[in-house]
Amino acid sequence: MTADDGIRVLGIEGTAWAASAAVYDSTTGSVDVETEAYVPESGGLHPREAAEHMATHLPTVVETVLERTRGERGSPAGDDGEEPDDSAAIDAVAFSRGPGLGPCLRLAGTSARALAQRLDVPLVGVNHMVAHLEVGRHFSGFEDPVCLNASGANAHVLGYRDGRYRVLGETMDTGVGNAIDKFTRHVGWSHPGGPKVERAAREGAYVDLPYVVKGMDFSFSGIMSAAKQSYDNGTPVEDVCCGLQETIFAMLTEVSERALSLSGSTELVLGGGVGQNDRLREMLASMCDQRGADFFAPEARFLRDNAGMIAVLGAKMYAAGETLPV
Ligand code: AMP
Ligand code: MG
Repeated sequence: MTADDGIRVLGIEGTAWAASAAVYDSTTGSVDVETEAYVPESGGLHPREAAEHMATHLPTVVETVLERTRGERGSPAGDDGEEPDDSAAIDAVAFSRGPGLGPCLRLAGTSARALAQRLDVPLVGVNHMVAHLEVGRHFSGFEDPVCLNASGANAHVLGYRDGRYRVLGETMDTGVGNAIDKFTRHVGWSHPGGPKVERAAREGAYVDLPYVVKGMDFSFSGIMSAAKQSYDNGTPVEDVCCGLQETIFAMLTEVSERALSLSGSTELVLGGGVGQNDRLREMLASMCDQRGADFFAPEARFLRDNAGMIAVLGAKMYAAGETLPV
């Protein structure tokens, strides 16, 4: 039995593009997630549009997961016109407190506060980045892993020991997903660019691009500019995509390997939306295989932004008494 046994937490994610709600039940281990994605019509994520998306969709995704837990409990309430009573079903409300786009964070925070008040349960403020890492550690069952967080706006390598994460290496400029997305915006592809680069790279031949690892840190802004230039100079876009993936992912793999070596850990966990890329997972798995380490990547729905990871970390924080006044 773990400290968070018997807890049901409703999680709300609202840092950028995902208006998402989830219910995590620590007894069964089930995580029920509902997400509405904001896809910009052109360009990258626009903070005001993203916030409008949150305002429209957070109430509906929350209602959807609550409705499903009512169904599970066999109490499809509300038919007689009365407010359904969910207060017995949920022990705490957790929300993504940051980092993220300010206008989105305000909406996620306000929704979570209102809901905690309505259900009369404690409120838990979750760090979105730690949630990306913790959900992988949770499903992997690893004790002291090295964690690679390959997200849109971030890229870090961390070591987990004695209940704490320590940053071992990180990007010196842009996040890894943002770098890829800026290149795809330059060639006129819609957001998000990552999946399109992955598809195009399969048809391409490798081209050299700048490889920048300094100690435990990496940099993506130079490679992004070089990729744009190479495309402008007539290199087929598939070839640039192939070079971009091979170079960026090799950098992440090198630093992850160095972190395993430095820390003596034999476990690697992947997190973040870029982790949905097959080639990245293949490189990391092969590096781990060669050094006899275990590699774990959660399902894709827990790699990209999602409220399941907020609910899972929220349950651990709630069990540890880390709640906020509404
Ligand atoms: P996150 O912020 O963790 O939700 O991750 C979002 C980022 O993941 C965006 O920058 C996407 O372009 C990127 N992404 C999504 N799918 C893929 C993929 N298959 N390959 C590379 N990047 C991806
Ligand atoms: Mg994220």
